[in-house]
Amino acid sequence: MPYGCRAAGLASFASLRLTGEDLAAIVTISFGDLDMRWITAVRRGSQHMMAGLRLRSTGLLAAAAVATLILLSAVMLYAFIRSAAVADALDRSDKQKLAAHYLDQSTSTVINQQKAQVTWDEGFVAAGLTLDTDWADQNLGGYLWNEFALDHNFLVTPDGELLRGWTRGKQAPLAKFDPLKGKIKRIMATLPSNRHVLGTAASLKPLDDTVWPVDETGRPLSRWYGEQIEFDGKPALLTVLSLLPDASHNLLTRSPNHLVSVRYIDARFLNEMSDALLLKQLHFRREPSSNDALNNIPVVPNEGSHAGYLVWNAGRPGDTIFEATLPLLVVVVLYCLVLLVVGAIALRRLLAASRELAVREAQAKHVSMHDHMSNLPNRAHFQRRLSEQLESITDVPDDRVVLVAFIDLDRFKDVNDTLGHKAGDDLIKVVAKRLRRGLPESDFLSRLGGDEFVVMRVTRRHPSAMRKLGCQITRILSKPAYVLGQELRIGASIGISTGPDHGTDPGELLRHADIALYQAKQLGRGRWCAFTPAMDEHVQARREIELELRKAISEERFDIAYQPIISARSEKMVSVEALLRWDIPGKGMISPGFFVPIAEQTGQMVQLGLWILRRVFQDHQAWPGLGLSVNLSPVQIVSNTFMNNLRTIVAETGVNPRRVTFEITEGVLLDRTDQVLEVLSDLRDMGFRIALDDFGTGYSSLAYLRSFRFDKIKIDQSFVQNIENDLDALKILKAVVALGKSLQMDVVAEGVETLLQRQLVVAAGCQEIQGYFYSRPVSRAEISKRLETSIRSQTIGLARAA
Ligand code: C2E
Ligand code: CA
Ligand code: CA
Repeated sequence: MPYGCRAAGLASFASLRLTGEDLAAIVTISFGDLDMRWITAVRRGSQHMMAGLRLRSTGLLAAAAVATLILLSAVMLYAFIRSAAVADALDRSDKQKLAAHYLDQSTSTVINQQKAQVTWDEGFVAAGLTLDTDWADQNLGGYLWNEFALDHNFLVTPDGELLRGWTRGKQAPLAKFDPLKGKIKRIMATLPSNRHVLGTAASLKPLDDTVWPVDETGRPLSRWYGEQIEFDGKPALLTVLSLLPDASHNLLTRSPNHLVSVRYIDARFLNEMSDALLLKQLHFRREPSSNDALNNIPVVPNEGSHAGYLVWNAGRPGDTIFEATLPLLVVVVLYCLVLLVVGAIALRRLLAASRELAVREAQAKHVSMHDHMSNLPNRAHFQRRLSEQLESITDVPDDRVVLVAFIDLDRFKDVNDTLGHKAGDDLIKVVAKRLRRGLPESDFLSRLGGDEFVVMRVTRRHPSAMRKLGCQITRILSKPAYVLGQELRIGASIGISTGPDHGTDPGELLRHADIALYQAKQLGRGRWCAFTPAMDEHVQARREIELELRKAISEERFDIAYQPIISARSEKMVSVEALLRWDIPGKGMISPGFFVPIAEQTGQMVQLGLWILRRVFQDHQAWPGLGLSVNLSPVQIVSNTFMNNLRTIVAETGVNPRRVTFEITEGVLLDRTDQVLEVLSDLRDMGFRIALDDFGTGYSSLAYLRSFRFDKIKIDQSFVQNIENDLDALKILKAVVALGKSLQMDVVAEGVETLLQRQLVVAAGCQEIQGYFYSRPVSRAEISKRLETSIRSQTIGLARAA
């Protein structure tokens, strides 16, 4: 059993060590795995990842690893202590069994020693049935003490009556037997009941007074008994054995005498026992030991209790196992500790790196999705969000719509050009902040670039939804902004489209919002416009015209019509306005009001404008006495090459600048005011005259009148055509004429169609009149013809007068 115990101890240790390695492997794999994830994460660079989740799982894994290591160490320590304790307990019970067995064996030994001396014919004859005292003194009392150290020997009758006794080889007094008397009588009475040999019933031979067990050869078998007793106050072994013949079986005729022996469990006995069983400090004691360091077995049963105990120093194999394996345990625990510390350090670094990575990722993500100047989401971000929203409302159709408002600042270019880029940048920041603060949180605001912003709003379908958004933005941007200490009136034009009605694709919705924005600008800026499908058709048509225009310009497929301008006083044609005409084969006449803006926006107006100037200056050579008005596009004026080209054409055609008036609209003055005013004064210096066209259509016309001293003001046809019915229009007309007079500018009424209109504009004080009432725009030949006719009639008139 001690070997079994040690084996068990080793087996449990081996399994623990294996588990420890497993854990180390698991921990290494876990960290390795994290490393791989970290490296992968680094490789992914700025790609957005679930950094928070990873941090959490890393933390959990680390906590699990730490807990496992601690638990493992604890389990190992417990297993070591437990296996040592088990080994101790096993050793304890083994030793107890061995000791008990030794006592049993000792009893058997004594019986065997007796048997050698009392089982022979001679002995039987001398003491079995009768008593030869000399023989008995020598062969029983003396021999058994001398040879086997049996302390007391008694020869007793079958009834347990003492015949003769010996103590330490010498005849003993009869009283020595007294303490045993009762016990021996009881033993002798029970001995005949044992009729079995090795578990099987022996055959019984009848004697004179009893039956006796015999083997198959007829040899009588010994009857014996053994137990531990207390004798003379000392523990001892008591044995009882029948005297029998060994050869002449027939000598046994009646119940034989028995030999009773007592051997003390004394120091000598205990020494032998201690040597045989390797028990240290073996001794006898009355009381059992409660000390763990001592082991014991009860001896000398005494009516249910024990008269004493054999006690010895308990062996501690557990301590030995523990001591032998402790260094290994310490190594394993240290290994776990080191693993913990290294793991903790690695984990700290890993977490720090992971956290930093998460921060960098978040930054990179922010940078990649935001515009650095305004810190608003950028175009890509906006498009992604718009596409998500569109998907969500088309996936689950309900009454939600996505409004996209495209915002363009009206005077951003001015600010940039006049106050510099820094001011422009500041203005963008101010506008971004203002919009962000002014619009609800739920609106997605983004800067697409330049001065273009876009707002996405998801809302319930409602007729006033677009108006609400448009008005909100206009209101927010109508207040003045302060940039670099200057007060700026920014204002914005806004185009709004609605998804999914105007498109289910972000690009399409944005384009439609842009078309509506264009319309808003056309209508005079500072306003919002909702997209309609007709606008798209318009845009399509524009695109076609744009392509046609390119061809027409390169092939010079244009013509010029001239509309007479009549003097209010003389009612004579004093001048003509050159108006561009374009007849597309198959499509008919296209209005310059439609294609000129296209030419301007597509960068073709400069080239077209030069063709017009050359052509009208050439035509004008035929009408030296007539004034000529030519429309100038803003694009022409701001072109760097304009003045040089004009000088060349003037030189080529020989036109007299004093007869030529350039008509510009207030739109020219809207952008790049300084540069435009410079060009205008240069034109003035060359001798040309300048008229402000379409006066009254803009919203700050009077301010423009002060900024440059125009030669003429042309009152817009919309006013003229209203004066018949609208008293206010007439009042404004009169006020403008008065203003013109005070600024020494002639006032021309455009679009006069009826006699009444003519009378009213004349009454108001307009100096010149232009309109269908007098003439539609006509060909160059027609003007020449009319001039000739008028000269002829003048000549006739003069002749008549003469
Ligand atoms: P605009 O400069 O105001 O030209 C006058 C426009 O009014 C002309 O239209 C003319 O035909 C029209 N008109 C004249 N009298 C009457 C009238 O009694 N009733 C009505 N309903 N209309 C009248 P048009 O020729 O179609 O030109 C439209 C615009 O196109 C011009 O407006 C001008 O802004 C632009 N445009 C025309 N030719 C040129 C050009 O050679 N250069 C540039 N830059 N612009 C041009
Ligand atoms: Ca004009
Ligand atoms: Ca006009």
